[in-house]
Amino acid sequence: MQETGCVICNKTITNPVCPDCINQEVKDWLRDKGYELDLIGKEISYPLTRCVICNKKMDICPHCYAKDIGLIVKEEFPKLMEEFGEVFRF
Ligand SMILES: [Zn+2]
Ligand SMILES: [Zn+2]
Repeated sequence: MQETGCVICNKTITNPVCPDCINQEVKDWLRDKGYELDLIGKEISYPLTRCVICNKKMDICPHCYAKDIGLIVKEEFPKLMEEFGEVFRF
């Protein structure tokens, strides 16, 4: 068995939720707040681990990916940043 790790932090992905599913969660969350954010184009496609939600392959841990999106959210909606950190704590 080969250990699968995140390409960014190199840690084993223990709670694999793929970028697409995180995108969806972030989008839903933003929509609840009345905002729209297009996260398409943030897709990553190295075949290593499979997402627990949609079974898609992924190679970046939810933690690193959420951090990535956090930077986008921070740019687009600075005042939502604090709440983002609380909601999306992977
Ligand atoms: Zn990582
Ligand atoms: Zn998924």
